[in-house]
Amino acid sequence: MYKEAWRKIKEADRIVLLSHIYPDGDTIGSILALFWVLKNSGKRVTLFNATKSELPLEFKFLDGFSKIQDKLPNNFDLLISCDCSSFDRLGIEGGDFELVNIDHHKSNQKFGSINLVEPNFSSTGLVIYRLFEENRVKIPKNSAYALYTSIVDDTGFFSYGGVDSFAFKTASKLIDLGVSPEYIARKIRGNEPLCRVRLRAYMLSSFDLRFDASVAVISFSKEVLKSVGATRKDSKNIIHELLNIANVKIAVMLLETDEYIKVSLRSDENYDVSKISELYGGGGHKRAAGFEVASKEMKDVETEILNLLSTKVLNVE
Ligand code: 5GP
Ligand code: MN
Repeated sequence: MYKEAWRKIKEADRIVLLSHIYPDGDTIGSILALFWVLKNSGKRVTLFNATKSELPLEFKFLDGFSKIQDKLPNNFDLLISCDCSSFDRLGIEGGDFELVNIDHHKSNQKFGSINLVEPNFSSTGLVIYRLFEENRVKIPKNSAYALYTSIVDDTGFFSYGGVDSFAFKTASKLIDLGVSPEYIARKIRGNEPLCRVRLRAYMLSSFDLRFDASVAVISFSKEVLKSVGATRKDSKNIIHELLNIANVKIAVMLLETDEYIKVSLRSDENYDVSKISELYGGGGHKRAAGFEVASKEMKDVETEILNLLSTKVLNVE
């Protein structure tokens, strides 16, 4: 599969690298890692994200970040999607094109002409690394930085479930290629926008505990977001902090926008929150899942999710 995918990529000249809407460090790192390898081999490459205003700026230190655009070129030979479990998360129109789908979500809908999906890998960056390794591709330093970023962003710096020796071994090889772990940690963690800090402060002073304090819930209304100057991207992963509270087994975040309620779920190793995201047509992993709900009030969505968690995940009476 890795050989076949690489053959397809080598045949193409004009290539578009697609990251998912409301991107994270894994999807961004993956497209940028591919970008430098393909560009150095003389290909014409476009970096695409449909929600450009929601690019998390902590990744702007990566070479090529400023080249990410929200327009597709008129002509191209091949699309490559990275870290995207379903076609609708790419934010593009369907059409008659070749697409290589590179991902690590078990819920991946295999929408590509070639699907390189590794549900046991902790990040898509690791799938890209394996693609390079299997095809003896030399990894330039800027791609190594991007891959290391993918790995640490999707594992919470090697601390989430799913992290294994492959993640550590790959990180070690990337360090041998010149990556500075300290530099990347400082860039990603030491660049928190003030609005995000304020949103966290609100979260920590306003969350609720339910079911004997086993579930922590936080809701961000449009008014709260406005008052701290935050948008959806600023809420990325902050919910993890609620999961860190002693006794909390599941954390739930709801965020209100004009069009829908965005829901994020996180759980400890004994609970599978992807069961809930599947019910709403979303996706993710056992311990980190998400979805969007349209045409409902945030309070009602919260009640609904807490009920579903109690009956389908926690199994409390
Ligand atoms: P987050 O809660 O950080 O947005 O996402 C957690 C995980 O669930 C990620 O792997 C993300 O790709 C996935 N996810 C979040 N929202 C959606 C969604 O609306 N649709 C799908 N298919 N996956 C989602
Ligand atoms: Mn990922």
